[in-house]
Amino acid sequence: MNGEQVTNVIIAILLALILIYYLYNALRTRRKRKPEYAIREVLACMQCNYKLERDYEAGDFIGLLKGKCPKCGGQMKIRGIYAVEKSKL
Ligand SMILES: [Zn+2]
Repeated sequence: MNGEQVTNVIIAILLALILIYYLYNALRTRRKRKPEYAIREVLACMQCNYKLERDYEAGDFIGLLKGKCPKCGGQMKIRGIYAVEKSKL
């Protein structure tokens, strides 16, 4: 190998190291990112207290009457809204 080839090899190695460094950093940043949350809500029947958990829908709030009880046909009321880490679902 002459001098020019050696220089080219060194540049190639440096570029590869820089690339690996950036990839490593990108992966680390991704892992550090805040966990994603899913919003869930709990509905309870006002007549038989049957409880149902489902995904939150925009506009829902605690105390809102929503839907019918699948057991007795009574009114369902939203009793709680909370966030769950998606990785734990
Ligand atoms: Zn019910």
